[in-house]
Amino acid sequence: MVFQSTVSREARFTGVGLHTGAPVTLSVRPAVVDSGFRFVIARPGMQPVTIHARSGNIQATSYATSLGQDGVQLHTVEHLLAALAGLEVDNAEMWLDSCEVPVMDGSAMPFVEGLKAVGRVEQSKERSAVRITRPLRVEAEGKWIELLPAAVPGLTIDYAIDFEHPSVGQQRFHLELSPQNFENELAAARTFGFAAEVDYLKSRGLARGGSLDNAVVIGEDGVLNPGGLRFADEPVRHKVLDLVGDLALLGFPLWGHLIAHRSGHALHTRLVEEILRRPDCWEYVHGAEPAALAV
Ligand SMILES: [Zn+2]
Repeated sequence: MVFQSTVSREARFTGVGLHTGAPVTLSVRPAVVDSGFRFVIARPGMQPVTIHARSGNIQATSYATSLGQDGVQLHTVEHLLAALAGLEVDNAEMWLDSCEVPVMDGSAMPFVEGLKAVGRVEQSKERSAVRITRPLRVEAEGKWIELLPAAVPGLTIDYAIDFEHPSVGQQRFHLELSPQNFENELAAARTFGFAAEVDYLKSRGLARGGSLDNAVVIGEDGVLNPGGLRFADEPVRHKVLDLVGDLALLGFPLWGHLIAHRSGHALHTRLVEEILRRPDCWEYVHGAEPAALAV
C-alpha cells in the first residue's frame, strides 16, 4: 500500500522571478491529506490569497504556466510543481511574498535538493492515481500528445521536439517516471530560449529576471552560456520536466504511456483538461505501487 506524503517541515527558497524579475521568498510547508498543492500569496500589507494548483485555475500558458484565483495571478509554477510531483510529494502549501515562483538556476534541481534536505513524511491516507484505460489525444498546429493505456503501472513518457535552430534540432527522450529517474535525468535540465527572441520577450514584459545564470540561451552560433549544456539533449529533458510540472495540475499521479510531439505548456495543460473532461477514458487506482517502486 502506498500512502500520501507531505514535506516533514518547512523548506525555504529565495530568488527572483524569471519573467517579473521581482525578488521572492518561497516557503514550502506541510499540508493535510487530500489537500494537494496550494499556493498562498502573502504580500506585505495585503490579505493572503490562496490559489489551488488545479487545471481550473490555469490562466496563461505562453512561455510559462500561470495560475489565478480571486483576481491574483501567479506565474511560472511548473518547475516547483515538477519537483514536488517528481519526488512523489502529494500535499504541500507554498507561501510566496510575490506573484512569481523563483526561477533559481532555471531547473528544478535547487527545489529537489531543498525538498530532499527536509524530507518527506508518509500520511495516514492511501495515494490514488489516475490510470488511463482508453486512448486520449490533443493536438494543435502540427503539435500533439497521445495518452495510451499502459501494460505496467506508472507513467512512461516519449517526448520529441523539433526546432529549426541547428543547436537544438530534433531531440527525443524516453523516461519511466520515478523519483530517482526524475532526480537523475530531468531535474537539472534548465529552461532555454533563443537570443533572437530576448528583445521580443522583454518588449512583452517577459524574461525580465532572465540571465545566463538561470537559462540556457542559444545564439546564432550556439549556446552562449560559458559552461555549455548540462546534458547534450538538455532542451528536450527540460520539456519533459515542464510536462511533469504541468501534469501535476491534474491533482493525481497519472498512469499511462504519454507520447508528445513538439508540445509545450499550452498542449500539456489542454491534455490535463481533456483527461478531466473524459472520465470514460480512465479509472482511479487506490494505494497501488507504480512499477518503478515495485521493482
Ligand atoms: Zn520550464
